[in-house]
Amino acid sequence: MVFNDGLRARQEAHAHGLPYISDGDLSKQVITLAKRTPQRVWLGEVSAVVLQQALADLNAAYRNFLTSVTGKRKGRRVAPPRFRSRKDNRQAIRFTANARFKVLNNGQLRLPKVGDVQVRWSRALPAEPSSVTVIHDAAGRYFASFVVQTADEPLPPVDSEVGIDLGLTHFAVLSDGTKTTAPRFLRRAARKLRRLQRDLSRKQRGSNNRKKAVVKVARAHARVADTRRDWLHKLSTTIIRDNQAVYVEDLCVTGLARTRLARSVHDAGWSMFTAMLEYKAARAGRTFGKVDRFFPSTRMCSDCGQVGDQLPLDVRSWICPCGSTHDRDVNAAKNIRTAGRADLNDRGAQVRPAPVPAQRGEAVTHRELASSGV
Ligand SMILES: [Zn+2]
Repeated sequence: MVFNDGLRARQEAHAHGLPYISDGDLSKQVITLAKRTPQRVWLGEVSAVVLQQALADLNAAYRNFLTSVTGKRKGRRVAPPRFRSRKDNRQAIRFTANARFKVLNNGQLRLPKVGDVQVRWSRALPAEPSSVTVIHDAAGRYFASFVVQTADEPLPPVDSEVGIDLGLTHFAVLSDGTKTTAPRFLRRAARKLRRLQRDLSRKQRGSNNRKKAVVKVARAHARVADTRRDWLHKLSTTIIRDNQAVYVEDLCVTGLARTRLARSVHDAGWSMFTAMLEYKAARAGRTFGKVDRFFPSTRMCSDCGQVGDQLPLDVRSWICPCGSTHDRDVNAAKNIRTAGRADLNDRGAQVRPAPVPAQRGEAVTHRELASSGV
């Protein structure tokens, strides 16, 4: 409500040719003064910090948009802030240290104006949290996500370097010959999802039964996503632990996602996987590189460099005129490793990798903190 009130106020000011409402004035208008009106008196029942944080999100969204328009901000164009809906899949409130939220000795979480809530902790907090975001997801689950400052955890150096080929028959093939099969969680769960979807489509719009069915579908999706993320975490942690340098092919370059293979590509969760490798490498003091140029990784011989003919998908191994026998995917992974090393040499050895933002849903919901490497 506060986010939308703030957005509406700024939009109206803009429409009437009035100057941009400053952060301070906006806070006074849509929080302090609004509380005195009968329509918004209930805002007093909510922690003031939560209201301010909602406005802080709006202000950040405006800053990103304005700096993007003027060209001060690099990268993709940022769209202007949009209204939020109570029907949004994800609802969240944020308490900062100022709100005096507290983790109690009995494991409960004390939230101002909410009360003491029971928490099932996924792990112990490594440090005093500076904020907590309470998230309500589409499946009806509540999460408490804490921002904590941690140090990097460098691993002892190892000798091996690895290239990874992301494939369709196998989720990942490593240049050392390791092959990991893609768990087709989504496929397996697809039948159940289809049934739930069908149930949902039969329910009348706006009915309570429909609301229940929506949650059921969301739950089924959430379970699949959780299992897949967990599996990707285990795989990426192992690869980073066992290798000093990890190279993958840039997925934009492979261009697979735009073909009819898209579905299984997305099932496989490659981009989540490479993002995990990237930030885990940064934290562990390992090298991570994306090979962002096109080269025929599959049909180039990793021993002599000759480029052979296009290989049909069902050809799993081939023999180069130089005499080397190649497993299709392992050969590709070896080429990726070679190309990754070469790219790294071109750029010069990096002393320390740049901070990598944690993924959304991974740790941090506070953008500034995320990109500062905290
Ligand atoms: Zn050869």
